[in-house]
Amino acid sequence: MSYSTDLGLYIDGSWRAGEGRDTHSVINPATGEALAELPLATAADLDEALAATAKGFAHWRGVDVNARAAILHKVADHIRERAEPIAVMLTTEQGKPLAEARTEVLSCAAQFDYFAEEAKRSYGRVLVRPTGQRALVLKQPVGPVAAFSPWNFPVNLMCKKMAAALAAGCSIIAKPPEETPASTSAIMQCVIDGGVPGNVAQLVYGVPDMVSRHLIASPIIRKVSFTGSVPVGKHLLKLAADGVKRTTMELGGHAPVLIFDDCDLEKAITLSATTKFRNAGQVCISPTRFYVQEGVYDRFVAGFAAHTKKVQVGNGLDAGTVMGPLANGRRPSAIAALVEDATSKGAKLLTGGSRGNQGFFFAPTVLSDVPMSAKVMDDEPFGPVALMRPFKTFDEAVEQANRLPFGLAAYAFTENARQANLVADALDTGMVGLNSFMISMPDAPFGGVKESGFGSEGGPEGLDSYYVTKAVHQY
Ligand code: NAD
Repeated sequence: MSYSTDLGLYIDGSWRAGEGRDTHSVINPATGEALAELPLATAADLDEALAATAKGFAHWRGVDVNARAAILHKVADHIRERAEPIAVMLTTEQGKPLAEARTEVLSCAAQFDYFAEEAKRSYGRVLVRPTGQRALVLKQPVGPVAAFSPWNFPVNLMCKKMAAALAAGCSIIAKPPEETPASTSAIMQCVIDGGVPGNVAQLVYGVPDMVSRHLIASPIIRKVSFTGSVPVGKHLLKLAADGVKRTTMELGGHAPVLIFDDCDLEKAITLSATTKFRNAGQVCISPTRFYVQEGVYDRFVAGFAAHTKKVQVGNGLDAGTVMGPLANGRRPSAIAALVEDATSKGAKLLTGGSRGNQGFFFAPTVLSDVPMSAKVMDDEPFGPVALMRPFKTFDEAVEQANRLPFGLAAYAFTENARQANLVADALDTGMVGLNSFMISMPDAPFGGVKESGFGSEGGPEGLDSYYVTKAVHQY
């Protein structure tokens, strides 16, 4: 399977395309060339999807949890069988190196497997009452879900929402990003082939503002799940408020990394410089603000910059490529503006800072001694940019780490166990990595605090966000 140009919407059990719908050009970010035309949903398409999801929910909620789990395991099997061609499509339309794309596709299978099993353990509670009386706390699926996911991990983030919703007994209308439709549609085909009914899981693309307004305004939708930027998250929250709908918001971050004098410096440098450029830094938990204690600042910065200069940038399909292009044409100019602002205010550019000659490339970039007045210290660059600043004391580092309105992920490197515990307690984020950047896995809650959002994806907490509770009192 090479890149699929046969793109469509999946509504009420059939793929739809053409028929006068507007289209969006899908671009290869490594070359800037058009790959395909994606049909965009009309209001009539969305109305059809809404009517179908209501019927789908009425059916799916009544399917035994073990039967649902068996179907979701089959979906996972199909994803694993088709992982290679889906990964090639993902790299072609998103840009990330093929090895990263493979990992992402396989993570989708892991999510379907995890939630299939976890849903079996969604027990309620029995409250003990006088003889002959009981009170039961039941978990029931919240209802039809509208799920909006972004272009940085197109298949992983769609599956996080879809696997949990389906496992809990909800129906779902997913709107993945318009930039990367071939990979998300290929995953959707796995969902269909696994046996999920065509009105239970549906897939639409469209003009994001039109689709979200239309779906969220419908009384049929009972839950909204969004991953993306803080401003769009706030906008969707306001729309959801009108219908008092359950929401999960996984929004931006600007992750701090505290490098203490007593860390394993070689490990800290290697892990930091490797993780920073994964997916070209377009990761909501990407390590970005490096606060380094004075005793190791010079060595950390020099080691990080040396490592960065060796990062091989190229087409994600080429063997040896470590970092691909940015995912879309909006990113290089946004990042260039932030880097220019920082250097004009006195930040030292140790490497990178420039765009490529074709496609949406931007060089891996390291800025040291970045002044606090630089915009990039406040605004998430969401790209291959690492910022370095020295610190003296523990309290100063924690204050800097916590100073922004975001609170998604933070990291610390220290070999002192007490210091590790203290810093983990003090960081105002939903997730903390200690001596590691590995914080995203199916069985652990993933989510932020403050303006980074609320609600978790992953783990029992992620599944719970697709249930409502009902208390039944029996006398
Ligand atoms: P954006 O803010 O316009 O869009 C962010 C995402 O939301 C996209 O996937 C987009 O399709 C979607 N979106 C936009 N308007 C929407 C609407 N009205 N209804 C529903 N969905 C909508 O900007 P962008 O240029 O795509 O990305 C820029 C910023 O977004 C980045 O700098 C980053 O901070 C943030 N972002 C975060 C994540 C994440 O994983 N949390 C992922 C992608 C982008």
